[in-house]
Amino acid sequence: NKLVYFFGKTVTEGNASMKSLLGGKGANLCEMTSLGVPVPPGFTISTEVCKQYYENNRTYSDEIKKQVADNLAKLEAEMGKKLGDANDPLLVSVRSGAAVSMPGMMDTVLNLGLNLKAVEGIAKNTGNVRFAWDSYRRFIQMFGDVVAGCEHHDFEEALDSVKREKGVEQDLELDAEDLKVVVERYMEVYKKSTGKDFPQDPVEQLWAGIDAVFSSWNNDRAIKYREINKIEGLIGTAVNVQSMVYGNYGDTSGTGVCFSRDPSTGENYFYGEYLMNAQGEDVVAGIRTPLKLSALEDQNPVIYKQLVDIKDKLEKHYKDMQDLEFTIQEGKLFLLQTRNGKRTGNAAVNIAVDLVNEGMISKEEAVMRVTPDQLDQLLHPMIDPAYEKDLVSIAKGLNASPGAAAGTIVFTAEDAEAAKAKGEKVILVRKETSPEDIGGMNAAEGILTATGGMTSHAAVVARGMGRPCVAGCKAVVISTKEKTATIEGKVYKEGDSLTINGTDGNVYEGMAKLIVPELSGNLNTFLTWADEVRAGAKRAGVKDGFGVRTNADLPEDARKAREFGAEGIGLCRTEHMFFDEAKLEAFRVMIVSDTVEERKEALKEILKLQIEDFEGIFEAMDGLPVTVRLLDPPLHEFVPHTDAEINALAAKMNMDSKALKSRLEGLNEANPMLGHRGCRLGVTYPEIYDMQVEAIMTAAATQTKKGIKVLPEIMIPLVGKFEELKMLRENAQVVIDRILSETGAKVEYMIGTMIEIPRAALTADEVAQYADFFSFGTNDLTQMTFGYSRDDVGSFVPEYINKKVLKDDPFQVLDQDGVGQLVNMGVEKGRKTKPELKTSICGEHGGEPSSIDFCYRAGLNVVSCSPYRVPIARLAAAQAVV
Ligand code: ADP
Ligand code: MG
Ligand code: MG
Repeated sequence: NKLVYFFGKTVTEGNASMKSLLGGKGANLCEMTSLGVPVPPGFTISTEVCKQYYENNRTYSDEIKKQVADNLAKLEAEMGKKLGDANDPLLVSVRSGAAVSMPGMMDTVLNLGLNLKAVEGIAKNTGNVRFAWDSYRRFIQMFGDVVAGCEHHDFEEALDSVKREKGVEQDLELDAEDLKVVVERYMEVYKKSTGKDFPQDPVEQLWAGIDAVFSSWNNDRAIKYREINKIEGLIGTAVNVQSMVYGNYGDTSGTGVCFSRDPSTGENYFYGEYLMNAQGEDVVAGIRTPLKLSALEDQNPVIYKQLVDIKDKLEKHYKDMQDLEFTIQEGKLFLLQTRNGKRTGNAAVNIAVDLVNEGMISKEEAVMRVTPDQLDQLLHPMIDPAYEKDLVSIAKGLNASPGAAAGTIVFTAEDAEAAKAKGEKVILVRKETSPEDIGGMNAAEGILTATGGMTSHAAVVARGMGRPCVAGCKAVVISTKEKTATIEGKVYKEGDSLTINGTDGNVYEGMAKLIVPELSGNLNTFLTWADEVRAGAKRAGVKDGFGVRTNADLPEDARKAREFGAEGIGLCRTEHMFFDEAKLEAFRVMIVSDTVEERKEALKEILKLQIEDFEGIFEAMDGLPVTVRLLDPPLHEFVPHTDAEINALAAKMNMDSKALKSRLEGLNEANPMLGHRGCRLGVTYPEIYDMQVEAIMTAAATQTKKGIKVLPEIMIPLVGKFEELKMLRENAQVVIDRILSETGAKVEYMIGTMIEIPRAALTADEVAQYADFFSFGTNDLTQMTFGYSRDDVGSFVPEYINKKVLKDDPFQVLDQDGVGQLVNMGVEKGRKTKPELKTSICGEHGGEPSSIDFCYRAGLNVVSCSPYRVPIARLAAAQAVV
């Protein structure tokens, strides 16, 4: 059972594909060695040993000890030096390195093997006394800090005391004698802190170093880092024991870090920093100001050229931007690390596109190089990074909807709309929002709420609209009456300005400068490639490809989504059209009508308005399919609540307020989400759906005659029994036939249903007889499968996630094990009845990457999501296909 792997001239036992066993650092040290890149030899103790270390109460088996001893002997033979040798000792670094890079989270010890004899040996042998003592003081500090848990600060103080006494400021101004004093003081610090003398036995040092690295796998920072970055399923870190090279040898030595391309812009230029006469972390530690890599070209052109060649070689080999560590020892170059470099979203896109253009990777590979989160960074306005540094956050809430917004404060939706009409930019600040605030939310640049969670009304609506939103910002105390918001004792009034960052939840005073993204240049090229990849997907159903559509209710949203690359509308919610004042009133009359006649009269007025709505949508979507869902929500959601509203409606309808009130009460339901809604409205009030179908087909006929290509898909919601669909389809057919014959227009249309009640999925074979398409409404399907009310999850789901009952909020990330089974069943049974059945998803999940991947595997033809998620869905869908 091999537990330790050697890399060097003698033999190299690992390679880049062995990351899970050797860690990224170890695997790449092997790979570089095999490629002929100069790497100091060493060996890697595998992650398997880390696992055993923890399993065996932090001890090592004899087998492990033997393999380490054997490899150490091999290293000593290859180097011609021995650990602890009094004349010419071998020194090593003991370095951490897990399969996934966790920069700076775990520990590393340099110059290990030094003791009072060896330091004299090095001094004598090299004639470089200063270097010998500099290495020793570095070792004591690092070992003390990392292995023995001494206070870093105590060492700093000891070093400072020597500098003070000598009257110098820089470490480099200390000579050999001074450094000897530093070593003495460090020894005292060590003794005081640990009660023991600094260990002199190099083998004891080595095992203590190995222990420390394995232990650092479970230090607080590392655990937190894995949690934040969702790194799961790793068994531990590897330990790399590597012969030292010395950047602190003198003025012709140095150390640096570099990126083969700029990690913040992606620009193809060799970017890095270095320091001469320095070691290890000096460059990043900020003790001295490092030099730009370009300066090395003047200082040492030969080394610079060599470094450039290695950078090119490694980039070609790994086919990606590399993050490198190098050290120069007396004019000789060594590489100490390479890995695929971390980068911003902007850099990720630019690098992926450049690498394809340079012929290094394929379009499919490029598509996999940008994560949906990285893409997301590019799609929202951001605070100019040059500015953000200087801003002081005054409060922090939930990062409910990404992007930044700046504007003056308003406290009501009406004020927001009025300000927008005057061309002002405002931030709508509220305790929480409700459906009546939609107009104001739309008019505002951004929304800040004091209460509510990630699924609160404000959060969901803001995400849908692409408005930045910070929700549940508890530090904000709002007085609606006074129109003030108090934050940490400071009172903000209407007209004061605020900036919110919905990406991280921060709130700032004043108007920050924002940068607005565009779908152009490389970003556009990249997404076009993603589309090509998607188009190649082999699918059952109507046609190949894996489509991305949008959920859009208004022409403006539809146009925006189209700009973002939507290939149609997957869900047009007709009720959202009624939030407009005039329509809402007509609608209210319809709802409270007592008789069919009254209702039909009211519907006539609505018909006119709906025809206009659909004409607008169809025009915006010229040539692309539009799925229109017939009325879905419980009627009482539209009724007036305040006395003033009720009186106004009563007056309009020529009826007594009291009588109206009692009719309104009659509409109340104990459980509206499970009540009189969806197709149940269509079954009980057929004239409502008839009106909607008439509006859709009339608008389609009108626009078709104008030369616009209209592809309407009529969708019937909340079907649980096929009998509902059968009846409503027949009703719709009568209206469609009438309109088409009256207008003489030729319109290709479809009639389908949503699968959002578990019973519909269970009986999908029957339902499919009457459906041209299925669209999985995973919001309701999740609600009814879990029995969690969507509107009330805020009270317990966060706790469920904390306590690990749930991994994610099932309304954001599709529950593949449970709800997913219903989707699979729906597709399978539906296609058994009707092989050409078109299937899609239109819940919030349609824009969530892991859910999109699931949808692809479930065989769906289309995903549909809110306009601002469309680019992300295009990428995630392409990644599912690759
Ligand atoms: P991290 O994972 O935190 O970057 P590393 O193991 O890469 O830690 O090491 C920290 C620093 O020490 C790096 O700058 C690295 O280049 C340097 N270093 C590590 N091993 C050696 C060595 N054998 N010789 C010289 N410098 C080394
Ligand atoms: Mg490193
Ligand atoms: Mg629904």
